[in-house]
Amino acid sequence: MNKYFETGKKILVKLQDAGYVSYFVGGYVRDLLLGIESGDIDITTSATPSEVIALFNNVKETGKKYGSVTVLMDEFKYEVTTFRSDGEYIDNRHPDVVTFSKDIMDDLSRRDFTINAIIMDEQENIIDNYGSKNDLENKTIRTINNPLKRFKEDSLRILRAFRFVSKLGFDIEEGTLEAINELKHLIKNISIERVMVELDKIFRGKHRNKALRYMLETEVSEELYGLSDGLKFISKINQELYPIEAFIVCFIMDDIDDIWRFSNKNIRLIKQILDLHEVTKNDIFNRFIVYVNGLETCLLANKINVVLGYNDQEDLIRELEEALPIKDVCDLLFKGQDIMWLTPLRKKSWIGIIVDDLKYNVIMGYLPNDYEVLKEYALKKVKELRLEMGDTDE
Ligand code: ATP
Ligand code: MG
Repeated sequence: MNKYFETGKKILVKLQDAGYVSYFVGGYVRDLLLGIESGDIDITTSATPSEVIALFNNVKETGKKYGSVTVLMDEFKYEVTTFRSDGEYIDNRHPDVVTFSKDIMDDLSRRDFTINAIIMDEQENIIDNYGSKNDLENKTIRTINNPLKRFKEDSLRILRAFRFVSKLGFDIEEGTLEAINELKHLIKNISIERVMVELDKIFRGKHRNKALRYMLETEVSEELYGLSDGLKFISKINQELYPIEAFIVCFIMDDIDDIWRFSNKNIRLIKQILDLHEVTKNDIFNRFIVYVNGLETCLLANKINVVLGYNDQEDLIRELEEALPIKDVCDLLFKGQDIMWLTPLRKKSWIGIIVDDLKYNVIMGYLPNDYEVLKEYALKKVKELRLEMGDTDE
């Protein structure tokens, strides 16, 4: 028995006992009918957010203004949304007002695709007002009502169509596809963060390539600030790519507008991988590269190289990592402070220069990690630096 689902039913019953209409809706019902494991349960109800809050012990006000709250029960989370009909849409994305409704049909008619507008009651009866079951059987993605109107209201739905292709492998119905073709330019009005959420899901889906082919055919890919060549390339390969890897491939294929948004950590990683790719695509990795960048990052750069048709150096990278004589500068047996003990340096910055030199030579295997050998080498370097700088003052 699926405990998440069963607890969801308890919520429906509680809402109904209090006099409100309520159903399961959206992705969970769709995926249940398709026999796919699904994440989140959405519940739609005639109760207003305040009424839901009053009825349950543990409720978070996640999107109260748009009618959504999160009910927590038996350690599970449920998004409970009041039947809604949306007002006029502004900026191709947001309705100017949302009106709560007592009529489930209002709520279903504002949803994006027929396959996302199936409702189910607590007895698992399915209520299908839009030919949704038929579309599920025929594996079809079709907007509810006029596709031109629905995509003009909210052009994010265009990308959502591809997201469901990628997840389910379905076809996009002809009229819906024509409307996408006609209105693809509206995607530019959507915030880049929202576009990235959809791209993330498109990249992760089992049917990624089919979704990408649709995006290329409709030229929606051209609206995505420089990603087009990369998407074309990815659509022809079979490797799974995490979204960030897919972005890196796109960045290598084309000079990309600096518009895509990543966390600072990912910005650093992307830059590191792009640099590593340049250095290693036609050359071999060496111990120093592996030391400086770390095993995981090198393996990622190698994966990108392989995807792009360059040599696979995974075994070499792993061997190099195993063979590293030190993992950290602290592992050097002769250290910066040893230099200070042995010779009074006028310029402290020389210590860094000498330690970097020692580190490089030890990592590359040119010098053993041995106190006496490194000491001798370091003192020789001190002398050389003094000569170079014309510094004879002991
Ligand atoms: P997934 O399994 O990928 O989460 P989902 O169908 O649950 O798919 P969500 O983004 O979680 O998708 O949205 C839940 C439901 O809300 C959808 O099934 C759809 O009915 C409705 N919905 C979400 N976004 C929109 C939108 N932009 N326009 C119209 N309806 C939407
Ligand atoms: Mg969902």
